[in-house]
Amino acid sequence: MRLSHDQRQSLENLALRVREHVIRMSTRGGCFIGASLSCTDLLVHLYSRVLRVHPETMDDPDRDYLLLSKGHDVPALYGTLAELGFFPKERLSNHLRPNDYIYWHPNRAVPGIEFHSGSLGHLASVGVGIALDAKMRGGRSRVFVILGDGELNEGSVWEALLVASAKKLDNFIAIVDRNHFQANVRTEELIPLEPLQDKFRAFGASVLRVDGHDHDALASAFEQLPPLREAEGTCPTVIVCDTVRGKGLPSIEQRADRWFCNFTEDEVEQLLAELHCGQRAHIQSEGLMVR
Ligand SMILES: [Mg+2]
Repeated sequence: MRLSHDQRQSLENLALRVREHVIRMSTRGGCFIGASLSCTDLLVHLYSRVLRVHPETMDDPDRDYLLLSKGHDVPALYGTLAELGFFPKERLSNHLRPNDYIYWHPNRAVPGIEFHSGSLGHLASVGVGIALDAKMRGGRSRVFVILGDGELNEGSVWEALLVASAKKLDNFIAIVDRNHFQANVRTEELIPLEPLQDKFRAFGASVLRVDGHDHDALASAFEQLPPLREAEGTCPTVIVCDTVRGKGLPSIEQRADRWFCNFTEDEVEQLLAELHCGQRAHIQSEGLMVR
């Protein structure tokens, strides 16, 4: 699907502002900046064009649900929700401060957050429960669950998919942020995942694979979702989004040591300049390694 120039520009401008928020949250304690930037375009696209949810409709039982199962990427979700009016943008500066819930993982005390997450592998099952409830009561909710690719090592993700297929939950959509890293290790060097489409198809899902930074490709994928219906459906959908960890900041893109970062204030300013002008930042803060 080809979006108009204005549609694409609007999405890209919003994603740029969200990336600014993510970068600003990567100091004074830091955040998981790499994976936050890999799913920024996806979140912006979902909230702008796909999800039937707005600040005024968060209590509507027939709203669409977005569950961020890979909860450590929540800076991108906070930034998107703030930009779209779920809570004041000024509140983002409370990140990691003791007087707020703007923290390293999603918390339902923040408007727009549907469910807590952080411990990986849980929200696919939560999403199946919500989707099944909607079907059983004749509701029209769709449930979108964003999974990390490293998170696919959790068996509970696949159990959830088995149930979604068995119950023909065509209102359940799993989206994989396929940034090819799990913490500071490449997924294929740790526990290989490919061929992912074949594996998801074997579990009964309809599978699409797109460039997770291309709004035209994302629009085409979401346009192929099953129509909203209350009656028995067909099968769940899985959309694998190929992404780049650290997208938008070449100085940290695809770097194994730049998944969680706690930059200095000066580095943050350099990274904001890099985001806008491409002038490469000089980063000296240590990255976080877990092995
Ligand atoms: Mg990953």
